[in-house]
Amino acid sequence: MAASEQISTYQSWQDSAEQLISNGLANQAFIDGEFCDAASGATFDCISPRNGQLLTRIAACDAEDVDKAVATARQAFDAGVWSGLMPKQRKKILQAFADELEAHADELALLESLDMGMTIRDSSTMNLPGAVECVNWYAELADKLYDEIAPTQPNALTRIHRVPVGVVAAIVPWNYPLMIACWKAAPALAAGNSVVLKPAEQSSLTAIRMAELAHKAGVPSGVFNVVPGMGDVAGKALGLHMDVDALAFTGSSRVGGLYMQYAGQSNLKRVALECGGKTPNIVLDDVEDLDKAAAAIVLGAFSNQGQICNAGSRLIVDRKVHQPLMDKVRILAEKIKPADPLDPATEFSCLVDARHTANVLRYIQAGNEAGAKLVCGGEQEAGDDCQCYLQATIFDNVSADMRIASEEIFGPVLSVIPVDSLEQAIAVANATVYGLGAAVWTRDMKRMEQAAHDIKAGVIWINCHDHGDISSPVGGFKQSGFGRDKSIHAMDKYVEYKTVWIDLS
Ligand code: NAD
Repeated sequence: MAASEQISTYQSWQDSAEQLISNGLANQAFIDGEFCDAASGATFDCISPRNGQLLTRIAACDAEDVDKAVATARQAFDAGVWSGLMPKQRKKILQAFADELEAHADELALLESLDMGMTIRDSSTMNLPGAVECVNWYAELADKLYDEIAPTQPNALTRIHRVPVGVVAAIVPWNYPLMIACWKAAPALAAGNSVVLKPAEQSSLTAIRMAELAHKAGVPSGVFNVVPGMGDVAGKALGLHMDVDALAFTGSSRVGGLYMQYAGQSNLKRVALECGGKTPNIVLDDVEDLDKAAAAIVLGAFSNQGQICNAGSRLIVDRKVHQPLMDKVRILAEKIKPADPLDPATEFSCLVDARHTANVLRYIQAGNEAGAKLVCGGEQEAGDDCQCYLQATIFDNVSADMRIASEEIFGPVLSVIPVDSLEQAIAVANATVYGLGAAVWTRDMKRMEQAAHDIKAGVIWINCHDHGDISSPVGGFKQSGFGRDKSIHAMDKYVEYKTVWIDLS
């Protein structure tokens, strides 16, 4: 199914979904340029959170498959079929890969929505264009990065080369499956590495298609492999593998910590972690536009059903503007109704699966039990048979010591914490183990600068929230991880710096 203008109505997305599923979805591992079953023959069920439908059964790879994928990636790397190409040749092929993604945009958007419940509106207008832009951006970068000469001494030539690390394992989560896979794979491939990608078990479908499309575009066999499977089996096998040189992970801080242990127990592979967050929106009493702030706060808390690492899950608000802001936020949040992700009118749909939904409901219960004031939502949507549709939920009068104020919920729950000053707001903002992002709403330059300086987070937004561009890095402080995705800085994860010192004396 190619990207097309006419596939835009609810009915046509539903018809396309039915056709796609009845044609049979790609569900195997992709190793050495071919689809294959898991060596054990094992599979796992791929269930849509949209309606509980069994979409397909996916190959459940284990250590044997991971061995095979890493061996083929190593072989391709050593043979130089990709690592040895001229950068401009890699650029051309990656551009062709981006073209393939674009040509299959409707299909990929649909797969994402079916697989993990992203609204078709977001997957087709944001996720897919973002993935295509990312691959094109790193394709362009492939032949734009120069090496360096160090200013050492007149009778020496000291060159600093960027060389690919070798075999890169990319482990990704389910909340933006295709886009985050591209954030890892595109710079790793642009630098000349071979890649083994393990998608989250909740969202493997676009990764599997992505590998096939990359191969079709000309990425040589063995250079880009996909091993779907369970985290504690296929993911762990990659983490412990003695022949993986670097591992780029996005997911929870708990599992990020496991990958550091795996690296320590095996070959000290280089690890980069993009982990959880508990992003605050800080609204000060001199906020310029309360309506703009309210709209951004609601969008930031509930986009993708709150399943965003940088979801603005905490609202830290000066008491002087607390009530007027809350009146606006509540009105906007109460309009949000969970609905079918395949309806292009839907802005808020289902969570990724029933297990995760139950977990979010436990946090809502914890908020109620701790005495926070439930402003709206708090329940599963009536008539939700597959138990994945939750209401947008807001708790007010939350104190910083409550679990809903400090732990990442990764669902549609906003915790509102009133404060009395900028200093107190910053202290509350910093009072979690996370440091991914923070937003501050004020018209005072000094307060902007103080907040930007004092808040420990990888990205600070002033008078906006979660704005981004492929040219600006994302990543965290503290237990939100280390290393950066996006921008030129992402390349650091996938290259070694090699110094060559020539004595000219
Ligand atoms: P997760 O940590 O449960 O899983 C992430 C990946 O790790 C998956 O591929 C999974 O299969 C694998 N995994 C799980 N258990 C494992 C184990 N025992 N050993 C090895 N691998 C294992 O995270 P998730 O639920 O898929 O995603 C949500 C998390 O991702 C949230 O914490 C969110 O904040 C984070 N996230 C961060 C960013 C960022 O840029 N910082 C972006 C998106 C998501």
